[in-house]
Amino acid sequence: MKAAREVSCASALNRCGIPGMDWCVNPYVGCTHACVYCYASFMKRFTGHDEPWGTFVEAKANLPAVLARQAARASGTVMLASVTDAWQPAESVHGLTRAALKAIAGTGLAPRVLTKSDLVVRDLDLLRSFGGLLGDSTASVGFTVTTLDDRLARVLEPGAAPPSRRLAALSRLAAAGIRTWVFVAPILPGLTDDPDAIAAIASAARSRGAAEVEFDPMNFYPGAVAAVRRVAEAAGPGPAAAFRAAALVPSEWRERIRALASEAIGDGGA
Ligand code: SF4
Repeated sequence: MKAAREVSCASALNRCGIPGMDWCVNPYVGCTHACVYCYASFMKRFTGHDEPWGTFVEAKANLPAVLARQAARASGTVMLASVTDAWQPAESVHGLTRAALKAIAGTGLAPRVLTKSDLVVRDLDLLRSFGGLLGDSTASVGFTVTTLDDRLARVLEPGAAPPSRRLAALSRLAAAGIRTWVFVAPILPGLTDDPDAIAAIASAARSRGAAEVEFDPMNFYPGAVAAVRRVAEAAGPGPAAAFRAAALVPSEWRERIRALASEAIGDGGA
């Protein structure tokens, strides 16, 4: 991984509208995990890039210093990250996420991680510094797992670590006392909505120490629909037909998948 272009930010700690999150920190602009369903692709219009979302990343070089100033006065939960993956490949070069964790350690902020990268294990020492399994000031680390099939994951999330490596990372963090969970999301029509496959993810997550398994069926945001449709069509007539049926009345499909996934995941599902 070569170094990303460095940019600067005016603010590092920003208010977050995601339920349960008070703040978000996004150390990078863009995300080379390049997930076909990425809900954050709307961010491209704020970046000045002509290239497709998923093909560029910029590093906010001054983020740790700005964050250290802002964090000193803040408290609550802070999501790492909301419109990028804070442990994407650029992090192994720039280390901004590790520096961000250092900046919030000892403040009133508790990190809430959601990632598709096993690089997060590198930061176990810092994550542990936020405390043990109990209490609001502890860290929690979630791994998104949409499928256990590494080959399908390469199509859906070409730049991210394979799910097998994510689960291995979860296992290491859980064994070290970090609260871990798995997010089965987005569940994609015709591609990852088989209840047995969802149950298998939940079982794999729990057997490796995940405290919770949550899920969310795909939202049919315009930025995601065309790309997911192309993958479903390339996967064959069955997935293509399932996607078309879901796209006719997305709300009905989401409701049906909610019920199926809830049953498949059992206790601990969303
Ligand atoms: S990891 Fe998240 S932000 Fe990055 S491309 Fe995938 S969905 Fe988008």
